[in-house]
Amino acid sequence: MDTARIASLRSAPVPPARHLIDGEHLDASDGATYQVISPIDGKPFTTMPAGTAADAQSAIAAARTAFDDGRWRGMGPKARKTVMLRWADQIEANALEIAVLGVRENGTEIAMALKAEPLSAAATIRYYAEAIDKLNGEIAPTEPGTLGLVHREPAGVVGAIIPWNFPLMIGAWKLGPALAAGCSVVLKPAETASLSLLRIAELGHEAGLPPGVLNIVTGTGAVVGAAIAESMQVDVLAFTGSGATGRKLLEAAARSNLKRVYLELGGKSPNIVFADAPDLDEAAKVSAAGIFRNSGQVCVAGSRLLVERQVHDAFVEKLVAHARAMKVGDPLDPETAAGAINSQRQLDQTLNFITEARSLGRKIVTGGNRIHEETGGFYMAPTIVAGVEPNDRIAQQEVFGPVLAVMPFETEEEAVALANGTDYGLAAAVWTANLSRAHRMVRQIRAGVVHVNTYGGADLTVPLGGVGQSGNGHDKSLHAFDKYLDLKTAWIKL
Ligand code: ADP
Repeated sequence: MDTARIASLRSAPVPPARHLIDGEHLDASDGATYQVISPIDGKPFTTMPAGTAADAQSAIAAARTAFDDGRWRGMGPKARKTVMLRWADQIEANALEIAVLGVRENGTEIAMALKAEPLSAAATIRYYAEAIDKLNGEIAPTEPGTLGLVHREPAGVVGAIIPWNFPLMIGAWKLGPALAAGCSVVLKPAETASLSLLRIAELGHEAGLPPGVLNIVTGTGAVVGAAIAESMQVDVLAFTGSGATGRKLLEAAARSNLKRVYLELGGKSPNIVFADAPDLDEAAKVSAAGIFRNSGQVCVAGSRLLVERQVHDAFVEKLVAHARAMKVGDPLDPETAAGAINSQRQLDQTLNFITEARSLGRKIVTGGNRIHEETGGFYMAPTIVAGVEPNDRIAQQEVFGPVLAVMPFETEEEAVALANGTDYGLAAAVWTANLSRAHRMVRQIRAGVVHVNTYGGADLTVPLGGVGQSGNGHDKSLHAFDKYLDLKTAWIKL
């Protein structure tokens, strides 16, 4: 990695940010702004428009007009594909600059951010761009004398509401298929991770996205997010975030125009280690990364470790060694394995879980505290809590911090019961050399993805979505198109 370039970008002045609406850079309608605080040092480094409901409405109106007049969906597939491929190239060409900008705002370690943010966004946009001219309709097997055609048509205006942990990766998971499908989009980034999304949207316009097709409105969920959710002009809501907000979006859809709502709501994903795992050292290494990278601020983080009792103590010891050896700190140091927690609020919430676990007598095996406080930034030591009970809040709720809750189990049946014993169902892992057991576990665990002898890394070719209170709908893979395309039947008498 170009450390000299990172050093110059880390303190480069960042001009006040502006919305991107109908191809124009705009301030909030009432001029209000808020400060963007870097979790690296707790200091403000630029300002962001505190969007109003009127801002959201003008972005939605622009998206509606752009959709209805066909300036994007009416372009031939080849032309749209060219624009999106050019956009992906430009994101890739500016990847380091974009990654550093994002890290200054959200705190993810740069080694991960570079790959998982601009480079993954570019790959995602490219993947869906390449699919544009490969989406066929259908001819139904009708009786003679009729022709049944099934067209796939863009669903309309998409409202995308995005979290702060991986704004570009998750943003591209919505933008790629939505724009490739021919929809227009109004995207609201999280309050603490907007700059890099604004930057890639700007590159999208330079690459040839017509004005109004991709609009970014910054501000709070309660104002801008709610205005998008309540709009009569938005056809599809694509959301990643908390269950509490997901519930509000469903209510808003019910109150307004019954827009389709797709929710990706996080998890409390079980990582299940059997004594017959092929390599317990490898399992410990990958499991530590699976919970502690990006300081645990990962929706699919393996935050519940279930370990077969006979290897419990030895395995926890290995994990502790990894946790203690991890370099936690300055996210712009390429050697850092886990950067900053996104905000003071998120740090406080995470520490509250630890205080509660301590008061219940659970064992904080390592970590449990804030570190590097002298920097002013928001850092926390990788934390392992053992002896957790299945109904503890730390075993049931998403912490979204570098905190691993550990529980022993005796049998496969008990492991399945513990694994399925939360309201969530996003991700899971099983470590075993027993092929039959691996397949049994995959089928019995309630989750959108079950890893076997690994954790994380499922690429773009496969869908990601939750069951239960982890949500509905799928990001990634060609299945993601289902959210942004409507089926239309033409029934023709011949
Ligand atoms: P987190 O607690 O991880 O920040 P949220 O669900 O609060 O999760 O945030 C995810 C996204 O949802 C952010 O962009 C946030 O601004 C937005 N959001 C929060 N509250 C609302 C709401 N009432 N309506 C619409 N969007 C919201």
